[in-house]
Amino acid sequence: MATAVDFYTRVANRLRSWGFNVEEVPGWQSRDAEPKTAFDPTQLFVEHHDASAATSVDGSHAYVVREKLSQFTINRSGLIRLCAAGITWHAGKGGPLHGVPLNNANPRSTAVEVANNGLGEPYTDACTASIVALEAAWCMEAGRGVERVVGHREWAPTRKIDPRIDMNWRRAAVAAFVASKSAAPAPASAAGSYTVRAGDTLGGIAKAHGTTWQVLAQLNGLGNPNVIRVGQVLRLPGAAAPTPAPAPAPAPAALSPDPKANPIAFQRWYNAYPFRPALLPVIRPLANNWGPQSDRALRKVQARYGLAVDGIPGPKTRALLHRLGYRG
Ligand SMILES: [Zn+2]
Repeated sequence: MATAVDFYTRVANRLRSWGFNVEEVPGWQSRDAEPKTAFDPTQLFVEHHDASAATSVDGSHAYVVREKLSQFTINRSGLIRLCAAGITWHAGKGGPLHGVPLNNANPRSTAVEVANNGLGEPYTDACTASIVALEAAWCMEAGRGVERVVGHREWAPTRKIDPRIDMNWRRAAVAAFVASKSAAPAPASAAGSYTVRAGDTLGGIAKAHGTTWQVLAQLNGLGNPNVIRVGQVLRLPGAAAPTPAPAPAPAPAALSPDPKANPIAFQRWYNAYPFRPALLPVIRPLANNWGPQSDRALRKVQARYGLAVDGIPGPKTRALLHRLGYRG
């Protein structure tokens, strides 16, 4: 399970580098519901809610740990806990989805159980922020796009209702978060070493570090250069610093139409916003002018996604609205 331990350690460290607190539940490294089955935590991320009473801060956390039901939990205060590095029993019958075969997601996926009653309890801002960050960290460490982040009910639509969140909105928020973090440099490997990530090849790693796969294979005693594991730490030749590949120039962000140009369209869109109950009541009646309700709504969206809260639909705000699906 060393590979999964390394993978989750990197996910946790990435979250910490973003300012999130990640608590490690004692024994997480060896907690595994199916120790004899090979585990790849990078093919799918499945979000659940735990259907716990809204009065409990931690919800079902202790039960989830004891019964090995997910790798992560997030409580109502937004605290992220790393519970298990092995397979957990969370997905059940469902799929196939994104190449994960029918009824067989547990050995190929990572799960989070989020404390929420699933009966319309609003997610707190702290809770939502932690969910989005965890899913973004998973995408970045697994080398996956946000389409691989799914709700349990998307895996098992005939059996499950969780989470009661519009997963298209969730994925849009995760994509926006990944984009905001991708400009920052990735955490550096220790000098003279490289940690293998999903999708790496020995030849690709060698090229990126100015050497050949033959040298790396010899230096690391690799019998078969086609077999490297995610999380494996490879020695690099010499002390020369690796030459980073030039970053591709970012594409200009797509902008939504100006929401003030069509207040009713914006109000309709906002009323369908999945976290709106935690923010403001529905805008009613719809009004074809930009009044105080529209202004407050736009400011709430700006605040939630970390933009300047000025109520002005400038380029950054319109890029955000575009990512969130607003098309006027
Ligand atoms: Zn579930």
